[in-house]
Amino acid sequence: MQTFRFFFPAIILLTAISCEEEEPIIVIEEPVVNETVDITHLPFGGPNILIRTEGVMQPDFLSLWLCGLPEDGAGNADAVDWTNEDGTWDYTRKPQVEGDVAWLSEFDISLDDDGNRIITGNALPNHTTGIFPIDPASLAYQYDRNPNIIEAHEVSYILPAMPEVATNSSCVPFGPSGISLSGSAIYHGASTLGNDAAAHEILDRFGGHTDGTQTYHYHFPAQDLQDHIHTHESGHSALMGYMLDGFGIYGPHDEDGEILWSEDLDECHGHTHPVLWDGEMVDMYHYHWTYDFPYNIGCFKGTPN
Ligand SMILES: [Zn+2]
Ligand SMILES: [Zn+2]
Repeated sequence: MQTFRFFFPAIILLTAISCEEEEPIIVIEEPVVNETVDITHLPFGGPNILIRTEGVMQPDFLSLWLCGLPEDGAGNADAVDWTNEDGTWDYTRKPQVEGDVAWLSEFDISLDDDGNRIITGNALPNHTTGIFPIDPASLAYQYDRNPNIIEAHEVSYILPAMPEVATNSSCVPFGPSGISLSGSAIYHGASTLGNDAAAHEILDRFGGHTDGTQTYHYHFPAQDLQDHIHTHESGHSALMGYMLDGFGIYGPHDEDGEILWSEDLDECHGHTHPVLWDGEMVDMYHYHWTYDFPYNIGCFKGTPN
């Protein structure tokens, strides 16, 4: 996994040339913050999908702990056309679902007096999406014949405003694992076929698509999705949504602005440090979107809704 992480030490030469006396040359080596990612070389997930109904009774580092796998899985299983010789995959070579379809999104988040965060809406995104069902004339269709449409669904979550880490983590079922601040669902990183959904399924430019429940949802922290929610300038990423145990999910930058990978996070794909939470800095657990599997959640660290 290290092959796509590059660190270039910065060498800054400070020379004073205005004095007649020769000043010593001061060499300062600064650690360079690795704020960008090479999306042409991303690691495949898939072998690290753990399934409780197949006997795996606890989560593991770098993995997604699924509750089970549906019997009627569908989707694309062939990623060979965007697989590199070194075994990584190239996000820029994977076709996207083209289009610019606008939706009337409804989305509201409020805090009540009983310590709850109330999230309501219609599950439609407040940005445009690609055209679904995938157009049979498009390149995307040659790989993924996703026949599903996008429909509105009632969103009604009552989540703890200050969630706590549970004694035992929980496995992740299919369906929504969280809700994005764009108004649509965040799904975990596996397809119903049991492979790495982001690396195999054909998504639109926001990293989303729809499924057999006609629900638009995200599998990948596409730059367009990140920028739509909050343009990152420096430091820790901004909040991008809430997972269904109430903990926040942030973009892929750590406190120094550096890109995080799953190896930097725990078995549920999160960590604990002070983050901006309802307007205050609070030392609490939170998840991160990353560019590698499992992308957003490995297990529920709190108690899911
Ligand atoms: Zn999906
Ligand atoms: Zn963090």
